[in-house]
Amino acid sequence: MTGRPAGAFTVARPAAPTAADGVGSEPSTSGAGAAEALAHFLREHAPLFVLTGAGCSTDSGIPDYRDRDGNWKRAEPIRYQRFVRDPSARRRYWARSYVGWPRVAAAQPNATHHALGALEARGFVVQIVTQNVDGLHQRGGARRVLDLHGRLDLVDCLDCGVRLGRERMQDLLAAHNPGCAPVAPEQSAPDGDVLLGDAVQTGFKVPDCPRCGGMLKPAVVFFGESVPRPRVALALEQLARARALLVVGSSLTVFSGYRFCRQAAEAGQPIALLNWGRTRADDLAALKLDAACGPTLTAALALLEGRPRSLAGMGAC
Ligand SMILES: [Zn+2]
Repeated sequence: MTGRPAGAFTVARPAAPTAADGVGSEPSTSGAGAAEALAHFLREHAPLFVLTGAGCSTDSGIPDYRDRDGNWKRAEPIRYQRFVRDPSARRRYWARSYVGWPRVAAAQPNATHHALGALEARGFVVQIVTQNVDGLHQRGGARRVLDLHGRLDLVDCLDCGVRLGRERMQDLLAAHNPGCAPVAPEQSAPDGDVLLGDAVQTGFKVPDCPRCGGMLKPAVVFFGESVPRPRVALALEQLARARALLVVGSSLTVFSGYRFCRQAAEAGQPIALLNWGRTRADDLAALKLDAACGPTLTAALALLEGRPRSLAGMGAC
């Protein structure tokens, strides 16, 4: 690890004065200070490569996996090897996914997605690469989005490669399990992970590929699975076109995201981190904002657009 770059600061501590008025003397995590520092970073270093993680989607009712210290909040998600090798684990995965899907499908983009979409439209963003699988950046208006870890609303056959929409999979699951109904969104856990009785899980039938009879899997990169190389290569190409890297809502615990920080640091591209809590790249960052994503991005966007500052409700977060 290299040390913190010269001139780097975080709004969580006193820092050297910068062109962002007032930020340098503001030894707090106040929302106003964070927004001004972020607006300054965007103004100085656009266009940016933006890497996003689970913290972007928590306000949409999709929880992140880890707490502020990077520890699992609940059971570790299923790993790829287990999914493909263990029929009972696969049955359990699909049973829970079937019942919890309505909640995930009902999630709506939030202020973070809308603000990033607006920043992209105004030329501040060359590429958004997301570790999220919910498709909410696109629905929030962003167009240059690369889904690094795939999409939960798509299902692939591991044998013939056919791709199904998740709604079609939901229909197949329903047809195979007439006695098991999805619960209403408000009854399931936020991530669609519903605890089911053993009887339901044991009797649950997992449909095979309607074309070849092969194994169906969500089109997401599971833990224990690698991101496809062409996808990584495309993301790195886009990073090379940017002048700086902004990370939003990720602790960067997983290497697939952290690698972009390593690459940016090696290339001399400044890094800004907007995340509530510690990240793996804290000591690589020129700017660390320990603040809420949505309000900070929204206020930074307003500052960049020269709109009157409306920072009510932007207290420490
Ligand atoms: Zn197939």
